[in-house]
Amino acid sequence: MPPLSWNVNEIFYSVQGEGRHSGMPAVFLRLSGCSMGCSFCDTTYAFANGTPMNSLQILVELAKYPCKTVVVTGGEPTEQNLTALIGVLKSAGHIVHLETNGARDCDVSQADFICVSPKKNVSEKMLQKADIIKLVIGQNTDLKEIEKYYAYENEHTTLYFQPESNLQENIDLCLTLVKQHPSARLSVQLHKLLHVK
Ligand code: SF4
Repeated sequence: MPPLSWNVNEIFYSVQGEGRHSGMPAVFLRLSGCSMGCSFCDTTYAFANGTPMNSLQILVELAKYPCKTVVVTGGEPTEQNLTALIGVLKSAGHIVHLETNGARDCDVSQADFICVSPKKNVSEKMLQKADIIKLVIGQNTDLKEIEKYYAYENEHTTLYFQPESNLQENIDLCLTLVKQHPSARLSVQLHKLLHVK
């Protein structure tokens, strides 16, 4: 059997800009590809095929950085063999944070932290596994639809409202929403405000 490999768009060291771990240094492992086609996608550059890397090549690259936290993101990581990738990273001692649209239910039980940012056809099982549910809010967002995610809030799972593209009208909308629904939190894309990757 050939060794497992993943199509990787980029690996870089930065600071998490979104959600519960905003401000935390992390290495980002961005996998290539996503079939969701959101109009507001800010990572369309990750749709291309990327570079095939096996587990050893990925671990060698990650070892260049002084940080054990790896954010597996995309594109959409569940469109590749994510369960095996998380296993490889955990075996090497990494703390694994996952960012997914949640459309595909898969075994992510070894991940240390799961962010589901639901788009179309989100899996209920993935929502139940989420540590945070990050809702991207723009002028075209159906706010009644958003309310269905309130049912997934509990002591483990927090909702975040994140303004689409950091536009002021979307920030204002998220501020209104979070004040109306105070168990949720506001997530701004800190890395964009700071003009860092
Ligand atoms: S799910 Fe995420 S990566 Fe995929 S198109 Fe939508 S915003 Fe982009």
